[in-house]
Amino acid sequence: RAKQDRAADYCIFESGMDQTMRARRALETDLRRALALREFALVYQPQFDLQSGRVTGLEALLRWNSPTRGPVSPMEFIPLAEETGIISPIGEWVLRTACRDAAGWPDDITVAVNVSAVQFANRALSTTVLSALADSGLDPRRLELEITESVMLDARGTALGVLQRLRATGVRVSLDDFGTGYSSLGYLRSFPFDKIKIDQSFVRGASEDRGNRAIVRAIASLGQNLGMATVAEGVETTEHMERVSTAGCTHVQGYLISRPLPPEQVRAFLARGTVALPPSSSDCSKVA
Ligand code: C2E
Ligand code: MG
Ligand code: MG
Ligand code: MG
Repeated sequence: RAKQDRAADYCIFESGMDQTMRARRALETDLRRALALREFALVYQPQFDLQSGRVTGLEALLRWNSPTRGPVSPMEFIPLAEETGIISPIGEWVLRTACRDAAGWPDDITVAVNVSAVQFANRALSTTVLSALADSGLDPRRLELEITESVMLDARGTALGVLQRLRATGVRVSLDDFGTGYSSLGYLRSFPFDKIKIDQSFVRGASEDRGNRAIVRAIASLGQNLGMATVAEGVETTEHMERVSTAGCTHVQGYLISRPLPPEQVRAFLARGTVALPPSSSDCSKVA
């Protein structure tokens, strides 16, 4: 009797695994086809400079609109693309497309591109970046690569070498999602990042929690002392913006400034010059 029960459990477990595996394999198949079938698109989210009161750059964010699945979130497909290596051709498409789009923007506006750790495993990354720049005619100083701390975990230092070579050509490098994952302050010492992007969880948490506020302040002052800009990610309300501005962050990015925009709306958005922020929320939300 007991033995039978265990066997049944095992079967349920196995068929559950089987289903997950099949779903993953199906997603992988669709993902492999998506590039050739032109199912990917980029949207661009503005980054706002608190000092000048102007948008100084935009982050390219990948969108996958599958004809069978509908829109699939990058949080869902990027990890699988990384595990399977499909991220390399996709990442190359992102780089080339972002550089080409940015070449049509005013020449003081930068474009930020997310680059996965996996893409660094391939020595061709610097060739790809340089070729995307040359083909688009984009000034290297207008391209920013956003990497996460996982890139710095590469023990052989390949990634560091690639980053150093690219930075020597003028390409900027930002540390994304700072404060999450395998945070180590040592990473800030091992590479001269241009920007630190403070993870959304601290930014939005800063409204409710003194601990989060202290962390945002500490990262902002770290950036100041290291000569790195600090971007608060995920700023959704004027209260968030006031908090991070008081904390000393130099830039904000988030729905308050703008949702990510389709490429055809970027030039019009930039032409408006200033960002029309909603009136300050302080009258109702700030107590003391
Ligand atoms: P990320 O690089 O940290 O990008 C910021 C994410 O926060 C984006 O999500 C953006 O739409 C979202 N966001 C921006 N402002 C707000 C806000 O005010 N509130 C909220 N709730 N969310 C906000 P998205 O586009 O879904 O991308 C998720 C992640 O997927 C990115 O995080 C990045 O790690 C990855 N990703 C996106 N595009 C690419 C790409 O081209 N290549 C690679 N390797 N990764 C990418
Ligand atoms: Mg990013
Ligand atoms: Mg981020
Ligand atoms: Mg992220």
